Amino acid sequence: MTDDLKDKRTFSRGVHPPESKHLTEDRPIEPGPGVGELSILLSQHIGAPCQAAVKKGDLVEAGQRIGECQAFVCAPVHAPVPGKVKELALKPHPVLGRCQAITIEAREPAPPSLPSFDLPTDFDPARYKPDEICEAVRDAGLVGMGGAGFPTSVKIQPDAKPPKHTLLVNGCECEPYITCDYRIMLEWTDQVLAGIRLAQRACGASKVFIGIEDNKPKAIEAMSAAIARAGSTSDVRVVPLQTKYPQGGERQLINAAIGQTVPTGGIPPMIGVVVINVATAAAIAGAVLHNRPLTHRVVTVTGEAIARPGNYYVPIGTPVEALIEFCGGVTEKSAKVVMGGPMMGLAIADLSTPITKTGGAVTVLTRHQIGQAKFERRQTACIRCGRCLEVCPENLNPTRIAHAVKSNLLDVAESHFIGACIECGCCSYVCPANIELTGYIKTGKIFLARQRKKMPA
Ligand code: SF4
Ligand code: SF4
Repeated sequence: MTDDLKDKRTFSRGVHPPESKHLTEDRPIEPGPGVGELSILLSQHIGAPCQAAVKKGDLVEAGQRIGECQAFVCAPVHAPVPGKVKELALKPHPVLGRCQAITIEAREPAPPSLPSFDLPTDFDPARYKPDEICEAVRDAGLVGMGGAGFPTSVKIQPDAKPPKHTLLVNGCECEPYITCDYRIMLEWTDQVLAGIRLAQRACGASKVFIGIEDNKPKAIEAMSAAIARAGSTSDVRVVPLQTKYPQGGERQLINAAIGQTVPTGGIPPMIGVVVINVATAAAIAGAVLHNRPLTHRVVTVTGEAIARPGNYYVPIGTPVEALIEFCGGVTEKSAKVVMGGPMMGLAIADLSTPITKTGGAVTVLTRHQIGQAKFERRQTACIRCGRCLEVCPENLNPTRIAHAVKSNLLDVAESHFIGACIECGCCSYVCPANIELTGYIKTGKIFLARQRKKMPA
């Protein structure tokens, strides 16, 4: 059932940057490049890193588990292709800088085939026990594919306390440029719905909402039609949301779609809500119905400097440079290569950085795209306009926090709830003085973590 499109919900504050999705939104998912060497990072999720289960020289088959878990909050990693383990070494990591990785020399560097998603004609999630679903999801190494990377089996486990009343499915894709989730909703619709129903069965939620922004009317239509086709799933509803950034943030999505608030410092399960992304839902169906480990994902390769932007199905571990080359390379001088989108993505200096389970996009930004003014206009003093306060979706005072970090007053930054910042970048985006508020806040968080010895110096 679809809500009235005129009655679109949203969260308070936030921004609406240019969407720039036209580059790839009409590009169907295609197989990406066949690559000779893939580096599988042993830390691709929130939680403990995996331990290598293979050594240099070992032969591996496609789908074989090559990284094992040593902790509950962890997800194993698998070989995307058959081949030989070339080395275990540190490789560039988009978040951590460097991380241990298993490099596999592919036996045949052939382009990946798109997966077949035939569902059983009599598919019924009630036939699967919640524990079985969780086990299949855990064995397949599933993590949140929208960016956060929390192990999915932990999220949807049946015996979790408190009980979960709502499963909220994130189909917002609010970051500019990125369209991988959009294409998944259009092309793998039944698979997404099957995964949602399996996740609902596992976590025991009685209500399911799929939040989709209104700049994706075809996705709203496709998911609504799939729900109607499935017949007995009247407890699953599509909720059209007003397009606004950062609506894909879990806290913002919960507020927008179901009007509940996650307390500051809390997580959604505390209020009985489980949030999963649409790509994760498709992967859940792959894991449970087809015994398919998470070895590939859809990546949007985009930016006005990319010759052939599109949505590509690629093995995890594919180097960014191979993807950019496959897309015809860059057609003009690029200013920044970002893993993710321009708002929350991370700029990378080393193009050998491999694609991870959470990496839904590679965006190549030119000087023009990131704004000539940003390059040429220097940061000036805060003019106390208050715009950063007006847009902060977490109701923080970004200028106070940034000033405290700049002055090395971390206790003051903490008293202004620096830890509650979701690093969405809205404050930096609107600041007329070009102050990199989010950058200061991220730096302050790193300093605090080091002070508490949770992060190496
Ligand atoms: S302070 Fe944090 S949460 Fe608030 S707008 Fe800035 S980056 Fe976003
Ligand atoms: S938006 Fe920039 S100039 Fe305006 S109050 Fe915030 S930090 Fe100061």
